[in-house]
Amino acid sequence: MNHPETWTNAVNNTSLQPWLDEQVALAERIYSAHGDYSRWLLTLEQLSHYTTSETDFSLPVIQIGKRDHLSEQQKNEIEQLLFNLHPWRKGPFNIFGITIDSEWRSDIKWHRMINGITPLQGRRVLDIGCGNGYYMLRMLGAGAAWVLGIDPTILFNMQFKAVTRFINHDIRADLLPIGIDQLPDDLDYFDTVFSMGVLYHRRSPIDHLIKLFSCLRPGGELVLETLVIEGAGDQLLLPETRYAKMRNIWFIPAPQALKTWLHRCGYINIRIVDVSTTSPAEQRATEWMKFESLKDFLDPDDHSKTVEGHPAPRRAILVAQRPGNSKRP
Ligand code: SAH
Repeated sequence: MNHPETWTNAVNNTSLQPWLDEQVALAERIYSAHGDYSRWLLTLEQLSHYTTSETDFSLPVIQIGKRDHLSEQQKNEIEQLLFNLHPWRKGPFNIFGITIDSEWRSDIKWHRMINGITPLQGRRVLDIGCGNGYYMLRMLGAGAAWVLGIDPTILFNMQFKAVTRFINHDIRADLLPIGIDQLPDDLDYFDTVFSMGVLYHRRSPIDHLIKLFSCLRPGGELVLETLVIEGAGDQLLLPETRYAKMRNIWFIPAPQALKTWLHRCGYINIRIVDVSTTSPAEQRATEWMKFESLKDFLDPDDHSKTVEGHPAPRRAILVAQRPGNSKRP
């Protein structure tokens, strides 16, 4: 881990500590088992020559360091090193004046969500499927006391390490290279749990929602973001094969169906904060993500449909609460 002392402070003498101690030891083993790890490690080592105390996580483009801190040559070197970690899906970041223009303008989702949730000030937050940690840093910028992110994609863990390596003070955020199934079933710990962009990848969405419930302390808040279809009642789409060229898509419910799922899992105060169609301004190929993106996934003659003829991507943000006196289901 980059900053072992941060989680030690945050979870000292809590029920989470023994588990985290174990996971941190395990993380290094998971990283080093990846075929690209030695290449990534070299990149990370080269990046650690440049550090700064100047950060601002509260802006749409996360700021780390100032443009005039480094020479053009140094900036070119950093840019090349960061390119080694292509593709950058989440962002944007500005690092010493270098803008990482990621595939997703993640700030747009943040903006849709942040005023609809309980303020993060002083809260212990879990971000499940956190990618490279863009939102983890925004959560710190919004005053979270500590953020734990988990994501099983090792490259995204490396991007988080790269971005946070430039910062020469402790940040109260940590990332583990695990999926939700590797979390204990009895955490009962976090004030806010985020699950954004993960539910539709799950074969058993109800089990996912129950697991999220168990991660929350009683009274805690779930922030759920996922693909939805337009439609009333309990309709849902289960694509026969691919959805927007993705193979690993399972259930895409109507927003009302999602509310029913949450209700059946024991959540209360369930609210739909936002429903928006994803636009090519929010998800697109860039210099930092050169593969296909949204416009290649849509029917070229009719952007209301995917190439397979399904409704085009639409996403909902919901919040729901674990009741104050509740046991796990
Ligand atoms: N939360 C971010 C990223 C969404 S992309 C956002 O909203 O923009 C989905 C992420 O979920 C990917 O980074 C992927 O690696 C991760 N993921 C996939 N399966 C997962 C699992 N079982 N548990 C946790 N994360 C998972």
